Amino acid sequence: MGEFECDYLVVGAGIFGATVAERLANAGKKVLVIDRRDHLAGNIYSYTDEATGIEVHKYGSHIFHTEMEEVWGYITQFIDFNDYIHTVNTRHDGKLYPMPINLDTINLLYGTDMGAKEAEKFVEAEARKDAERLGITEPKNFEEKGISLVGEKLYDAFLKNYTEKQWHTSARNLSAEILKRIPVRFSHDNRYFITARHQGIPKNGYTKIVENMLDNRNIGVKLGVDFKDMKDELSEEVRIIYCGQVDELFNYELGVLPWRSLRFEEEKTEDGLGEAVINEADKDVPYTRAHDYKYYQVDQPEVVAQKVSIVAREYPADFEKGGEAYYPVDNEESRELYGRYIELCKEQYPNMILGGRLGAYKYWDMDVAIKNALKLAEDLVSD
Ligand SMILES: Cc1cc2nc3c(=O)[nH]c(=O)nc-3n(C[C@H](O)[C@H](O)[C@H](O)COP(=O)(O)OP(=O)(O)OC[C@H]3O[C@@H](n4cnc5c(N)ncnc54)[C@H](O)[C@@H]3O)c2cc1C
Repeated sequence: MGEFECDYLVVGAGIFGATVAERLANAGKKVLVIDRRDHLAGNIYSYTDEATGIEVHKYGSHIFHTEMEEVWGYITQFIDFNDYIHTVNTRHDGKLYPMPINLDTINLLYGTDMGAKEAEKFVEAEARKDAERLGITEPKNFEEKGISLVGEKLYDAFLKNYTEKQWHTSARNLSAEILKRIPVRFSHDNRYFITARHQGIPKNGYTKIVENMLDNRNIGVKLGVDFKDMKDELSEEVRIIYCGQVDELFNYELGVLPWRSLRFEEEKTEDGLGEAVINEADKDVPYTRAHDYKYYQVDQPEVVAQKVSIVAREYPADFEKGGEAYYPVDNEESRELYGRYIELCKEQYPNMILGGRLGAYKYWDMDVAIKNALKLAEDLVSD
């Protein structure tokens, strides 16, 4: 038996790759999972800081939330979730406001005490007045759409600078499509994921989910292995599920697919946030969010109660070839380039399927990644 003998090779031990591997293995296929990182779980990887017991989300806060019963039923076979419900405050002009914008956000910003109906009429009137004054009829970009939905004051306070920091460009250069509907709730409900039927944080950390999924006698795992260094040793029959970046696979020969990146600065401090996430809406604060991870551990009150916190500040960063890819820059040009890479991939690797958020060049929440992986595995098994 060769070192890399298997029916399927899954490149990438993130939640997508782990789900496909688990399903294929469950159907009796021999699967090898590789990842070039030295840890499992891809971007949902978390580890426990030994001194404090705090679970650190290495690639930024991850909150599991889903409306899909199929996904919840699947993932809870491998882990129990705690009862954490996500809420976020955002800082503007030295004050904290609930986010997404709700009745309390509006009343705090305007110094009013409006009820739901009154506030809805008020925001509508502000938006209409500002759109008229600025001559916005058909919103052509994010800024025009934002103002025409919520008015200039709410837009300037909470949407403009945060978005511009994140994408490192003027909101006038961003698509109006990003804001599909009014980003306001006329209620006091401050749950971030208001439609999620299920949400929480895995009790033993995210990495444990993937460890449990891959703990199967039909699955082999090799960490610290890059596809490019082992591909020549693979037999031609092996089918490959590739969860990496397709432009990198082809050494960027058609060009670089654009992404936004992030940088996290972590510190142990007694000056914590008092909650899991605070957004920073203003331009003069260079980071977009701060995370205080202990607040996710609602099932471990002793971890939350200790004085010390591990706080990470999230700085948006430009993406460079070979760097960490976080958010795809979705536009006509990037979609066209991605399409050309897909064609190249079909020609050069007929046994390869691109998957996961990197391979699909898409932002997917975890539940969407799992749903897509379940579908792919089902198709492969019934092939
Ligand atoms: C900042 C941020 C916060 C997020 N927060 C949430 C949240 O709160 N809730 C939520 O549901 N979702 C969240 N997400 C989305 C979540 O991170 C993704 O859904 C998930 O990581 C997708 O998993 P994946 O397996 O597709 O990709 P990844 O986790 O990126 O896994 C791909 C793996 O492939 C490996 N790989 C790539 N190329 C190669 C190669 N050539 N050889 C070997 N290995 C390779 C990589 O090392 C990586 O480990 C967030 C995303 C970001 C960017």
